[in-house]
Amino acid sequence: MLSWENTPSLIPMQRERAWVEIDLSALAHNVRQICQLLAPGADLLAVVKADAYGHGAVTVARTALKHGATWLGVATIPEGIELREAGVNAPILLLGATNTPEQVRAIARWNLQPTLCTPKQALIVSETLSADSPHTVLPVHLKIDTGMSRLGAPWQDAAEFAQLVQNLPQLKIASLYSHFATADSLDQTVMRLQQARFKGAIAQLTAAEIATPMLHIANSAATLTDPSLHYDLVRVGLALYGLPPAPHLANKVDLQPVLQVKTRVTQVKTIQAGTGVSYGYQFIAEREMAIATIAIGYADGIPRNLSNRMSVLIRGRRIPQIGAITMDQMMLDVSQIPDLQEGEVVTVLGRDGEESISAEDWAAMLGTISWEILCGFKHRLPRLTVSQTQEARAGVIQL
Ligand SMILES: *Cc1c(COP(=O)(O)O)cnc(C)c1O
Repeated sequence: MLSWENTPSLIPMQRERAWVEIDLSALAHNVRQICQLLAPGADLLAVVKADAYGHGAVTVARTALKHGATWLGVATIPEGIELREAGVNAPILLLGATNTPEQVRAIARWNLQPTLCTPKQALIVSETLSADSPHTVLPVHLKIDTGMSRLGAPWQDAAEFAQLVQNLPQLKIASLYSHFATADSLDQTVMRLQQARFKGAIAQLTAAEIATPMLHIANSAATLTDPSLHYDLVRVGLALYGLPPAPHLANKVDLQPVLQVKTRVTQVKTIQAGTGVSYGYQFIAEREMAIATIAIGYADGIPRNLSNRMSVLIRGRRIPQIGAITMDQMMLDVSQIPDLQEGEVVTVLGRDGEESISAEDWAAMLGTISWEILCGFKHRLPRLTVSQTQEARAGVIQL
């Protein structure tokens, strides 16, 4: 597929059909807010996996680093390479596992830092390095499973695992880390049990006279919950993007949503009572009414399950969507705006005047989480960066 960024003839067309707006001033604000909250000595790792939760990894990484983050976290090697190719020099932690010599070679070549979870992974890294790049010393991050049951060595084996890695040539233990399963829950029981296991793993290392490496366990929710969870580094994703990980954490810092989704009206028409709208006639007009078609659909990442349930914003008003959402388009009941014109801007997610629609609103309707909503916007939508002024946020300036 054509890339918007790399195809000059497409650039003038970026706001023609449908697009994602990324407010870099909101992102910078969120980064600074989070940094102010950190325990003394703790640093911020900006989690920019999945194209920075759909916001655009390179722009987000640069902005986060400029405003206080010192580390970046990605899930995959290609995500790390994308940042390096763009000239990003900060240390990059690969959150996914490393299992093959091919992966090790790419990690060494691109100066990424792998997560190790098993002795086998550690041996593959060590053997590949000694065969291919005998002069490289690679910082590695040991992951301990304290209760997420995803990646990581069992917490009981922390010292044994660290000892094994320490004895391998060319590997340098840069950090010991773990990940919470329920940090966004009001009930802290599981999180505190995981914290206790993490402390136990650290104590094991001390007892085995292994120098304590950098320590980290907090995601967004844990970072907002308690500074005693910050250790040397916090790994923050969702909060960077301006969304609280849970309602009870919404007031810990002032977060501003970074992403908005916009499209345009492509046609306005009047339909008669009894007229069906869209595939399957899920909506039938009960009266003569004005409807509009807009140029965004499920192939852009608008969940089809929101058909006949979602609203959009036009001229600061909340406008109901009607009928099945189609691949590239959907219809609206625009009875409230009889003089609506083709080409007018429609806010699908975001703020218009006093009204706003958030990823959390969609997540609640769909029975999912805001993380999945953010990651769902497809690359058919160009990502446009804006640095909105207060006036623009208030709707005085039309961007
Ligand atoms: C994705 C991820 C994070 C960030 O989680 P948020 O809840 O978005 O802050 C932190 N650590 C690891 C290991 C992750 O995979």
